[in-house]
Amino acid sequence: MSKPDYYAVLGVSRDASQEEIKAAFRQLARQYHPDVNKDDPEAEEKFKLINEAYQALSDPETRAVYDRFGHAGAPSAAAADPFSMAENLFQMFFGGAVGTMTRGPIDGADRRVDLVITLEEVLHGATHTVEVERLRLCPRCKGVGAEPGTTPERCPDCAGSGRVRFTQTTILGTVTRVAPCERCRGEGEIIRTPCRECRAERLVRQRDTITVNIPPGIEDETALLLRGEGDSGLRGGRDGDLYVVVRIAPHPRFKRRGDDLATQLNLTYPQLALGDEVELETLDGKATLEIPELTEPYSELVLPGRGLPNPRTGKRGDLYVRIGLKMPKKLTDAQRNLLRQYAELSGVRLKKYASAEPTSFFEKVKRSVKGED
Ligand SMILES: [Zn+2]
Ligand SMILES: [Zn+2]
Repeated sequence: MSKPDYYAVLGVSRDASQEEIKAAFRQLARQYHPDVNKDDPEAEEKFKLINEAYQALSDPETRAVYDRFGHAGAPSAAAADPFSMAENLFQMFFGGAVGTMTRGPIDGADRRVDLVITLEEVLHGATHTVEVERLRLCPRCKGVGAEPGTTPERCPDCAGSGRVRFTQTTILGTVTRVAPCERCRGEGEIIRTPCRECRAERLVRQRDTITVNIPPGIEDETALLLRGEGDSGLRGGRDGDLYVVVRIAPHPRFKRRGDDLATQLNLTYPQLALGDEVELETLDGKATLEIPELTEPYSELVLPGRGLPNPRTGKRGDLYVRIGLKMPKKLTDAQRNLLRQYAELSGVRLKKYASAEPTSFFEKVKRSVKGED
């Protein structure tokens, strides 16, 4: 029976890169894995063929042989399959290349949590706690994996190296290959009495509460680094770090402009026109704000040193107060008459009252002087 072309099996071109071949294999292997295709009797055959094709094409040496000699040069499925199949699956499910599957140190992963603080906390600094889910060394076995009182044994298959060598015969001669030891899964040791807590995983998933000190003046979206507070490393690998990303909640009255703050204050016309002294609620207590005579609406007044501390120098920025005009909700007759008098004195002719009987004392006087009455 003639075999289908290996490139066709994997659905790649003859000049496909090793990466493309690997990607195609991974996808097909998942698709046709017998465990997920229990109803399809052909899946297992297809799966074997996919493995065989990948085995031949994933190794540049055997691929070169296949390219020159076709199926005659490829290792037969029956001969070397069990090993390579295991190796391929190992790579597929554990993600590592064969060369890296040794029992060297493994660094712990970094973790990230987000934290929202108030603007008041930016001013003074704060201490918060965050909850972080992370993988830490199992407290029962201290990361050894074996039940306390027992010790892992050296794997007899690989003599503790985690790797095994085997030879394949091709028409060009014998090729030596290295694969992770199947028996110890590349660990080099066998745990006969697994730790009851972590089942020999060495790490346990846990939720920890960690205290974070937030310095005054912190900027929005600053990532605070807490060294070693991520996942635990294994076999001498370094512990991962924890990044606490600090966000600042919007404040109802104050906006941040770097080290400065900005707020809005609405005052009445007499206050703007005549000047006043008002009490203003700042981020840290009350302050007195001097309103000069004839203050323009929408101008900005400054309260020096009432902003936020600079994160490096600690020197506080300023508070900018934008002045708005506050209108009364309604007018009494007395207020209306006074405002009309004011308009007249300011030379403002209000259309609404132009044809009406003059109301002001001044206007009446003016008219009688001119003899209009
Ligand atoms: Zn344990
Ligand atoms: Zn072993």
